[in-house]
Amino acid sequence: MNPNLTLTRNNLIRQQSFVDGQWVDAADGRRMAVIDPATGATIGEVPDSGADDARAAVDAAQRAFESYRHTVARERAALLKRWHGLIMANQEDLARLISREQGKPLMESRTEVAYGASYVEWFAEEAKRGGGDVIPEQHPGHRMLVVKQPVGVVAAITPWNFPLAMLARKIAPALAAGCAVVCKPAEDTPLTALAMAALLEEAGAPAGLVNILTSSRERAAPLGDAWLADPRVRKISFTGSTPVGKHLARHSADTLKRLSLELGGNAPFIVFEDADLVAAVDGLMVAKFRNAGQTCICPNRVYVQQSVYATFIEMLAARVGALTIGPAGGSAEIGPLINLRAIEKAEAHLADAVAHGARLVVGGARHACPDAPDGHFFTPTVVADVDARMRMSHEETFGPVVPVTPFATEDEVVALANDTPYGLAAYFYSRDIDRVWQVAESIEAGMVAVNDGVLSTEVAPFGGIKESGYGREGSQYGLDEYLNIKYIRHGNLPVRKQA
Ligand code: NAP
Repeated sequence: MNPNLTLTRNNLIRQQSFVDGQWVDAADGRRMAVIDPATGATIGEVPDSGADDARAAVDAAQRAFESYRHTVARERAALLKRWHGLIMANQEDLARLISREQGKPLMESRTEVAYGASYVEWFAEEAKRGGGDVIPEQHPGHRMLVVKQPVGVVAAITPWNFPLAMLARKIAPALAAGCAVVCKPAEDTPLTALAMAALLEEAGAPAGLVNILTSSRERAAPLGDAWLADPRVRKISFTGSTPVGKHLARHSADTLKRLSLELGGNAPFIVFEDADLVAAVDGLMVAKFRNAGQTCICPNRVYVQQSVYATFIEMLAARVGALTIGPAGGSAEIGPLINLRAIEKAEAHLADAVAHGARLVVGGARHACPDAPDGHFFTPTVVADVDARMRMSHEETFGPVVPVTPFATEDEVVALANDTPYGLAAYFYSRDIDRVWQVAESIEAGMVAVNDGVLSTEVAPFGGIKESGYGREGSQYGLDEYLNIKYIRHGNLPVRKQA
């Protein structure tokens, strides 16, 4: 146990992978460090799993699936309810783990635990509703039914920015549907995933039903490739970057796996001149600065209509300049970025924008935090007069940087908003009802927030279009991602004579 990291329940700090109901090391014994991004300190050490471990996990999952697929919905719902109860009972410990390995403020981590748990509760309920259909017969003496069956073993691959919620959003529907899971969390955030596995074990999940393998970035590809090549893995559910999503799509073609891909975004945030500017600034602060700007649905491009442009920037800069920065344990609103590469990306985007004529309004530099001098902190930043030539207009900055661009007309801004291969989230503020419907329907995105900075909830379908991927998580549509439809036709039945 690492003395740097203590919880109320220290048995939630697991430093081995979870396979076939056992806590295990990598077959070749390789291990990797877990780093606190606020201090650079090592807070744990976990297995660095490879291809052999990946295959062993599928062996276990396939065995578990053969029996779990026959459980009744009520039983699967009960397992998920127990897991939900344990997650919420350990909310504080889980939040502390998230904050230590991921860096977000403790308040945000508590919210993430509740948000992730809400998917587990939702799919506990949905498990009981995954029924099929009876199709009206076309000929006498026939019956036609549609039943839904679990797809099989699911490989779930998750990113570091929401280490608990992204995992819950995949494992919960898979278990509700009757599938078994092999899972690889991101290199930066393995401890939260392992704690979730410990709680599933405590909830009574059968051995092998959920298997969690930790691995380094270097070994992610060989581990993932072993799952891609394995015909027993029938589905991949992935949240992460678009290039890795495309790799998974290409290489799962040989075994034609089903895919759910929640990929990168480049969300526009549009402020029309008829908007409530105070509400728009509030919404932007919430949408942009959660997790220090490291969310896939963060506004990455802000477009403000010319007549309110100067006022809006002034209002926004005052709020952004007042944000507090620091390690997760205190009252700071902005934590560290996940690693040095993230800081360097924000700096490169900013330097490119300024070199092409953008104007730095506030922030724009690394932040030296007295409490955590080795942390990866970046000052919340507003940069004005950004245009389409600049890198930050096309690529996710994934940091606390707000680029603002003026626009003249509705047609112009809709074209700008859609001028991206991505299509995950979009936000706009307007009080003109005609405009609201016109813009909401014209924007190319899987999710659109009108006069609101918050989108995500377990009851609504989360997902993108274009190169932001396909498939939906949460909502009444989420369970079908893990179910196959089977049509059963029964003929030669007795025909009842008409009276
Ligand atoms: P990433 O590099 O694509 O990594 C995501 C996961 O894939 C990690 O577990 C990673 O492992 C693993 N991975 C990387 N290469 C792999 C390979 N060849 N085979 C199998 N697994 C592989 O993404 P990230 O930088 O961690 O996360 C940020 C991205 O995720 C952003 O683009 C963000 O927009 C997106 N995101 C999207 C959503 C959504 O719902 N649409 C939600 C959150 C984040 P390692 O960590 O070990 O490399």
